[in-house]
Amino acid sequence: MPIRFIKVKAKNIFTKTKLPGCKWVINQYVGCQFSCRYCYAKFLCKWKNYDKWGSWVEIKINAVEKVKDKYVDGFVFMSSVSDPYQPIEKKLCLTRKILENMNKKVKIGIQSKSSLLLRDVDVFKKFKTIEVGLTINGFDGKLKHEIEPYSPPHKKRLNALKVLKEEKIKNYAFISPVIPGLVDVEKIIMETKGFVDKYWIEILNLKASGYEFVEWLKSNFPESYNILVNKEKMNKFIKNILKFSNKNKIVIEDLILHKL
Ligand code: SF4
Repeated sequence: MPIRFIKVKAKNIFTKTKLPGCKWVINQYVGCQFSCRYCYAKFLCKWKNYDKWGSWVEIKINAVEKVKDKYVDGFVFMSSVSDPYQPIEKKLCLTRKILENMNKKVKIGIQSKSSLLLRDVDVFKKFKTIEVGLTINGFDGKLKHEIEPYSPPHKKRLNALKVLKEEKIKNYAFISPVIPGLVDVEKIIMETKGFVDKYWIEILNLKASGYEFVEWLKSNFPESYNILVNKEKMNKFIKNILKFSNKNKIVIEDLILHKL
């Protein structure tokens, strides 16, 4: 898909957030080339009057200057409405430059779907408090093509988690979006528990995934949709995940269930 890159200047680079466990977010990019069909950030298209989600990316060209030596107290999350290691990052190295110039006492969490983040392991190691996560969900084949067409393959994400562990960087797996019947949480836990420090589990944010995605889910996977919208079925589904997690003695930082 042709991508429009839009250069913008930001007033600030650290933005206050209500995301669980965080005080600040950094979005050096707004918009995302990975173009996941269910992405909750697609509301930005309307808000900013841009085309289809995945067809544009804003680049904050003054982000490095804004971050330089600035200290913020509280946990910083990178990023909430973009992926810091989407393809354009390979060319621009904006995420890397931001990290290089950031005060290393800042407590930071970085999350991506891309193994490109391994390029910056040397910079990660300079931070006193850092955790680096990979979003994983195991989508494969036709299903991946339909809902997460441009993201890196599952195996590469698993390998990135393994390398982070070997490099002694605190890592986590963000299992998301969990869609009953389409994402095998138990399988992912078994595949990763030997090299992942902790887990976050997020059930699909159905409301924010948008009309088109909800209609697609309803007609292609009605049983998955029925579980997501039925309180009793969802509670049972979550109970089973937690039971399995306890049995396998893994650390779950949080299980996120969005309001319908
Ligand atoms: S990688 Fe994340 S930010 Fe990018 S489109 Fe997918 S869900 Fe949205």
